[in-house]
Amino acid sequence: MGKGFFQVPTAINEPVKSYAPGTPEREEVLETYAKMYNSTVDIPLYINGEEIKTGDTATMAPPHDHQHILGTYHKAEKQHIQKAIDTALAARQQWADLPWEQRAAIFLKAAELIAGPYRAKINAATMLAQSKNIFQAEIDAACEFIDFLRFNVEFMVRIYEDQPDSTADAWNRLEYRPLEGFVYAITPFNFTAISGNLPASAALMGNTVVWKPSDSQIYSAKVIVDIFKEAGVPDGVINVVYGDPVMITDTVLASPDFAGVHFTGSTHVFKDIWAKIGTNIHNYKTYPRIVGETGGKDFIVAHPSANPKQVATGISRGAFEFQGQKCSAASRAYIPKSLWPEVQKFVLEDIKSFKIGSPEDMSNFITAVIHEGSFDKLAKYIDQAKSDDNAEIIAGGTYDKSKGYFIDPTVIVTKDPKYTTMCTELFGPVITIYVYDDEKWSDTLQLVDQTSEYALTGAIFSTDRYAAAEATKALENSAGNFYINDKPTGAVVGQQPFGGARASGTNDKAGSYLNLLRWVSPRTIKETFVSPSNYRYPFLGE
Ligand code: NAD
Repeated sequence: MGKGFFQVPTAINEPVKSYAPGTPEREEVLETYAKMYNSTVDIPLYINGEEIKTGDTATMAPPHDHQHILGTYHKAEKQHIQKAIDTALAARQQWADLPWEQRAAIFLKAAELIAGPYRAKINAATMLAQSKNIFQAEIDAACEFIDFLRFNVEFMVRIYEDQPDSTADAWNRLEYRPLEGFVYAITPFNFTAISGNLPASAALMGNTVVWKPSDSQIYSAKVIVDIFKEAGVPDGVINVVYGDPVMITDTVLASPDFAGVHFTGSTHVFKDIWAKIGTNIHNYKTYPRIVGETGGKDFIVAHPSANPKQVATGISRGAFEFQGQKCSAASRAYIPKSLWPEVQKFVLEDIKSFKIGSPEDMSNFITAVIHEGSFDKLAKYIDQAKSDDNAEIIAGGTYDKSKGYFIDPTVIVTKDPKYTTMCTELFGPVITIYVYDDEKWSDTLQLVDQTSEYALTGAIFSTDRYAAAEATKALENSAGNFYINDKPTGAVVGQQPFGGARASGTNDKAGSYLNLLRWVSPRTIKETFVSPSNYRYPFLGE
C-alpha cells in the first residue's frame, strides 16, 4: 500500500438464515439440492489455474444415499504434486508483492459471493457431500466460512498495524513478510468452512499454497474453488490436489521450499506429519511452521446445582448435531446421581423425537455419518458396549447401512469412568455417561482432567458460582475452548477463537489474529536518518 491507510469494512458475523417452511432460502436450497443431485460433475485438479484430468478417477456419493453417484474426481500422481509445488513457488513473488488491500479485496469478494449468489450452492453441496442438515450446512459452509474471510481481513490489518516504537533519529518498522517457500493446507471432511479457510488464511497473508482437501469433501471443495476463482484469486496462488494422502504429503514434505503446514484432522495423522517434518528438517531452507488442530474427547460436567433440562439440551445438541462429527462434539458426560433421573428422562425424550434420514427432508435432525469406514468403526464400539458388563446402552445402539450410513443416536452409561468410550474419540453420534456421587464433585473434576489425552472443548453446568469457579480452575488445561452453562460446540469466528492443546493440536486459534501470525515471518527494518560517522563513543573520551 503506497497511497493511503485504507480502512477495511468492519467485519460482522453473517446472520444465520432460518430455512423455516415458506422462506425463500428454503425453496432455493432445495431446488439447488435437487439440481445437483440429478446431475454429475467431473472434478479436475487445479494447478496454476489449469484443470488437469489424470484419468485416474474415484466416485463421489452422498453418505445418506451411497449408491447414488454425484460424479468423479481425478487423482494426482507424484508429477502433479511436483507441478503444484513448482507453480506455487513461481507464483509466490508476484502474489507476495501485491499490495495488501488487493489481497483483502479478493477474499472480501469471496465472502460476499458466498453470502449471495453461491449460498444455496455451497450449502446444497455440503448437504450432499457431508450429509449435513440445512442448519448445519448454513452455520458451516455459508456463515462460518464468510466469517473467516471477513474477520481474517480485519485481523490482518490489526497485525500490520502492530508496529514498534521509533525515535526522532531512527524509524523502526515491522514488515510482515509471507513465509519463504509455500504452505501446504490439508483439510478435513467435516467443515466446508475449515476446508476453505486453511488455504485462504495463508494466502491472505501473501503465501502461495498447495491444498489437499479430504476425499470425502471434494464435492463441496469444488464449489470453494469456483468461488475463489470468481473472486479473483490469481492462478498458481492456491493449487488443489487430491489422491493418495501419503504420497501427496511425502512429496510435499520432501521439498526444500516447504515452509509450513496448515492441518486440521485426526491426531495420529498430524503426529505422523510432524514426525516426517522432523526427519526432513535438514533439507528445508527455513524452519517450517507446523499448525494442526486435531481430535477431541469433549466433555460436559454437571454440578448438582445445575438445571437438568439445560444439561440435557447441552447433551442432545452438543453430542448429536451433525451426528457428533464435530471436533468439539460432547462425547463424555459426568452427571451427579441426584440429577441423573431427570437428565436421563429429558435426553431420552429428545432422542425419541429426533428424526433420522436424508437432509433433503428438512424435518430430519440426524443424517448419515461420513463413510463406511466411520460407520463400521462406530458399529464395532456399539457392539462392544453391548457385550461389556460395565457398559449399558440406554438409547440407540442400532445402525443400518443399506441405503446410507445411519447410526442411531446412542447413549452408553458406564460404571467405569475410564471405559474405552470415555477416552477414545469415536467421531459419531455416541455419548458415554458416567454418573458420579454428588459429594465427589471435586474428585470428578480431577477425573475429567485426567481421562483423555485431548484438551479441545468442554462444558460445565452449574448455578453455584463457587462450583463454576472451582471447575474453571481445575479444568484449566483440559480444554482450549471452555464453556460455562452452554454446550461445548458452535464456536463463532471473532467471538470464541477456536483450538485445543495437549493431543488436540497446536492451539493456534482459528478465527483469530493468532492463527494469521503463523503465516508471516516479520522483518524488522531500522532506518537511521543521520548515520554516525565516528566510531568513538563519549565514554572513550580523554
Ligand atoms: P483425517 O485425519 O482422516 O483427514 C484429514 C486430512 O488428512 C484429509 O485431507 C486426509 O486425506 C488427510 N490424511 C489422511 N491420512 C493422511 C496421512 N497418512 N498423511 C497425510 N494426510 C493424511 O480426519 P477427518 O476424518 O477428515 O476429520 C475428522 C478429524 O478431524 C477428527 O479427529 C476431528 O476431531 C478433527 N477435527 C479437528 C478440528 C479442530 O479444530 N481441532 C476441526 C475439525 C476436525
